[in-house]
Amino acid sequence: MKLIFATSNENKAVELQKLMGDTIEIESLKSLNFMQDIVESEDTLEGNSLLKANTVFNHFNRACFADDTGLEVDALDGAPGVYSARYAGPTCDSENNMALLLRNLGNTENLKARFRTVITFKSLGTTKQFEGIVDGNIVLEKRGSKGFGYDPIFKPNLSELTFGEMTLKQKNEFSHRARAFAKLKDYLLSIDSI
Ligand code: IMP
Repeated sequence: MKLIFATSNENKAVELQKLMGDTIEIESLKSLNFMQDIVESEDTLEGNSLLKANTVFNHFNRACFADDTGLEVDALDGAPGVYSARYAGPTCDSENNMALLLRNLGNTENLKARFRTVITFKSLGTTKQFEGIVDGNIVLEKRGSKGFGYDPIFKPNLSELTFGEMTLKQKNEFSHRARAFAKLKDYLLSIDSI
């Protein structure tokens, strides 16, 4: 079974192929020479994930899927959420995003947060969404330098380590993305063809 992963992040595509195993072959947009920048203009993870899947499906007329992830902090009413990548501004990096988040949290005692991934699978006649969540807490001092994004300030409930202190293998054991992709994988393996 072959399907397109609507991401311009080649590393994500490689990582995902490992999670998917041999029966599902992932094709990245780069491998298909699709260089168009898809503007994530929706205001929910569901909306952006659907928008990316629709754009790629309409272009290739082939089964594909897209993902969108956000960090949702309770004390910030769910922010940065769908704006996680550009929380501190369009040209800002992860350091700026984390600094702003910690600044906005101030002295609040409620540090509850979650990472949420929404995947949209799209094929002729089928549109399905899968969600993966990992609940945890924001830590006020960055810990660890592994991973990316907000990893150094997020500690999942099931571990004493932040994502920034985990190897990718450890993180994949219970990350939001791994959970959402496990659901996609189960679905794909349950159908005969796409
Ligand atoms: P994307 O939808 O996977 O591109 O994620 C959007 C943004 O959410 C990223 O640019 C990161 O800032 C943040 N993010 C997504 N997944 C993770 C993660 O596993 N760890 C830390 N930050 C993440």
